[in-house]
Amino acid sequence: MTRVFGIYQPFPDAVDDITSDAQERYPEESCGFVVDGKYVPKKNKADNPTKGFVIDGRTYVAAKKKGLQAVVHSHTRKQLKHPSEADMQQQIAMNVPWGVLWSDGDGDILGPAWWGDQLETQPFVGRPFIYGIYDCFSLVRDWYRVQHNIIFRDFARKADWWLLGENMYVDHFKECGFFQVSEQDLRPGDAFMSRFARGDTTQHAGIYLGGNQVLHHLISKSSRRDTLSSWAKYVTHWVRHKEQTKTNNWIGLT
Ligand SMILES: [Zn+2]
Repeated sequence: MTRVFGIYQPFPDAVDDITSDAQERYPEESCGFVVDGKYVPKKNKADNPTKGFVIDGRTYVAAKKKGLQAVVHSHTRKQLKHPSEADMQQQIAMNVPWGVLWSDGDGDILGPAWWGDQLETQPFVGRPFIYGIYDCFSLVRDWYRVQHNIIFRDFARKADWWLLGENMYVDHFKECGFFQVSEQDLRPGDAFMSRFARGDTTQHAGIYLGGNQVLHHLISKSSRRDTLSSWAKYVTHWVRHKEQTKTNNWIGLT
């Protein structure tokens, strides 16, 4: 049985073929392209197709000439329910959308979910949580893209990167154009970086909406508004982008 979550599907005519192919090839990873809105399955040439996928370079080049719209593949190991860091690196390098399906561990394939700057951004509130696609960083990055017309670089990231000795937010916010502001100087549309309630490294981020409201996306939860008073105690940095415009006309916050 295949199921599709109620998540954004930019290629609706391809979804049934993508999910059936992933189901049929399980426990090997499926892979293919979307061209003209249709799914085109490709041979998985990985040495061990249950642990990864490989499409040879010439096949990519030929597909690009024919109008490649997206690359899609499945994950069949139950611990990988999101894009891997390598998937994210390749999506950024190829500059086309990627989609991923994942397994519930009992042979049922879920998804696909899609990411890439070429796709529409999704509403800010009520996103499901999928690492690398709908997480705290992608919410903040989408916010700046939609509300301020600011696009800063994406980061290929591992799930739980902060448990692996990385410090993505603190190490990179300046390079992305942000500077620190004090809590007394906050303006609606500024961002925060914080720790979680339990934890001491800065591994989370969100947006200050004004008044007593913040917008953020916690692990395993839907993206949502929260009260600043409940969250401010975890904030380690308040930041503003140097090109940030002042607007209270927040799109997508219905
Ligand atoms: Zn993958």
